[in-house]
Amino acid sequence: MSNKLDLSVVIPVYNEEEDLKILYDKLAGILPSLKMEYEVIFVNDGSVDKSWNVISEVAKKDKNMKGINLRRNCGQTIAIAAGVDCAKGDIIITMDADLQNSPNDIPKLIKKINEGYDVVSGWRKNRRDPFITKRLPSLIANKIISKLANIPIHDLGCTLKAYRKEVLSDLKLYGEMHRLLAVYAAWMGAKMAEVEVEHSPRIHGQTKYGLSRTFKVILDLITANFLIRYATKPIYVFGFIGIFLFLIGFLVSVFVLIRALLLHGAWVSPMIFIMTICIITGVQFILMGLLSEISIRTYHESQDKAPYVILTKLNID
Ligand code: UDP
Ligand code: MG
Repeated sequence: MSNKLDLSVVIPVYNEEEDLKILYDKLAGILPSLKMEYEVIFVNDGSVDKSWNVISEVAKKDKNMKGINLRRNCGQTIAIAAGVDCAKGDIIITMDADLQNSPNDIPKLIKKINEGYDVVSGWRKNRRDPFITKRLPSLIANKIISKLANIPIHDLGCTLKAYRKEVLSDLKLYGEMHRLLAVYAAWMGAKMAEVEVEHSPRIHGQTKYGLSRTFKVILDLITANFLIRYATKPIYVFGFIGIFLFLIGFLVSVFVLIRALLLHGAWVSPMIFIMTICIITGVQFILMGLLSEISIRTYHESQDKAPYVILTKLNID
């Protein structure tokens, strides 16, 4: 089972019965011409339609087609993670099952990887999705993310991406994180590139997401940004806010004391509330910082995860 392959295509599937057969035909039309040892892993993410039956049929007919059946719907990110964990290819390509991504773009992605990039991201320049619920939020999110993470990629949300296996094997995927995979990869020092890809409107089935996804992506972005900048020193973030609030509280309390004792003013005024809130939250923030220092140590030590990524070694085993 453990023989290595050149290419793994990982496809998360949730209620896409009408599209799978067409997708298979397209993949079977293009992949053999690449002259690579390949596999396609369909991950059935708890579909309630006949998706798994279609995957089973296809897998029976064509040994390069593989299936993973998840017990329940876990979400696209986890489905991708399950596929990636089983993938044997040196290059891993992820794509949607709903025919919005085109298998015809796969050779382009691989060509770019072979030019020496670690991650090649598809850019749906001509994206065929509704404007208000999809394109606009994604435009804004992409602008913010690429600026914060300092990566020149236009379309992070595009599932059609190619990765060198090493880049993914170190990452654990949670939440809506597959959208930020490129960010995490860049964080680890991966060399990134982008190629324009086709995008088609959804014909069968329905989208699994609405506007609420935007909030999840924003929260994931905050996490990513925090991890990228402060994962090894969380006390700097919490401690800084804590000290700042504590100082404000302290100054206000000096003010209240002087006013009450020297100027015979009031003890109780809005100032005393500001003082209390600032001091309490300030202390809380510092304590939270200490807790997160403890958890980050557990994180690195329990997984034997080094806080750095080594690229190459010379004369060291
Ligand atoms: N998907 C999944 N699990 C989910 C939701 C979606 O595996 O819980 C799959 C879905 O079958 C599709 C891909 O993820 O192959 C993208 O989903 P969708 O097309 O609904 O997203 P959109 O293109 O509308 O952003
Ligand atoms: Mg889609």
